Amino acid sequence: MKQQIIVALDLEGVLVPEIWIAFAQKTGIEQLKLTTRDIPDYDELMAGRLAILAENDLKLADIQEVIGTLAPLDGARAFLDELRSITQVVILSDTFEEFAAPLMRQLAWPALLCHQLEIDGEGRVANYRLRQRDQKRRAVAAFRGLNYKVIAAGDSYNDTTMLGEADTGYLFRPPDGVKAEFPQFESATEYGGLMALIRGGMEE
Ligand SMILES: [Mg+2]
Repeated sequence: MKQQIIVALDLEGVLVPEIWIAFAQKTGIEQLKLTTRDIPDYDELMAGRLAILAENDLKLADIQEVIGTLAPLDGARAFLDELRSITQVVILSDTFEEFAAPLMRQLAWPALLCHQLEIDGEGRVANYRLRQRDQKRRAVAAFRGLNYKVIAAGDSYNDTTMLGEADTGYLFRPPDGVKAEFPQFESATEYGGLMALIRGGMEE
C-alpha cells in the first residue's frame, strides 16, 4: 500500500495576498507596508505594527472588516477545492488566526496552523503570540512522524525550511532571489502547474 499523503501549503503569496501589505493599501497607512525585508527583527516589526494599529484606533473588528474586503488570489479557491478532493491539505502560515479568518471563510475553512493575537477587553490588539518558532518546519516534521508523506509548497524564504523538511517541496511564484538560491525546489507560476507538480509528487 502507498503511504498516505498530506499537502502543506503556505498561505500568503500562495493562496491569498500578503495580508499586511493589502491591509496597508486598503487603509492607506503607508508604514504598514514595511515587512521583514525592511525591518529584519520580527519582534520590532510587530511592535511597530501594533503601535500603528493603536494610533489609528483600529480594533480587531475594524481590521477584520478591512481584511474581509480582500479576496483570495485568482484561481486559489478552485485550486484548493480540487486539491482537497484528492488528498489531505493543511495550511501552515505565520499569520494570526484572527487576521486570516475573513480570508479562510472565502476558502471554505481549510485546516490552518498559525499564530494568535491577544485581544484586550475593548477589542483592541494588545499583543501577539507565536505558538512556536520555526513552526512550519516543525509541523512538517511532526506529520512525517505520524507516518505521512508530506508535500509542501510555499513562495518565500520563511518556507524554505519546511520545503526542505518535506518529502517533496515546491516553490510557487517565488521571488527571483529565492528561486536562484534554492534551485533544488521545482517551481510553478500558475495553479495548473503547481497541481501538476503535486500530482507528480504524489505518484513518486
Ligand atoms: Mg508566503
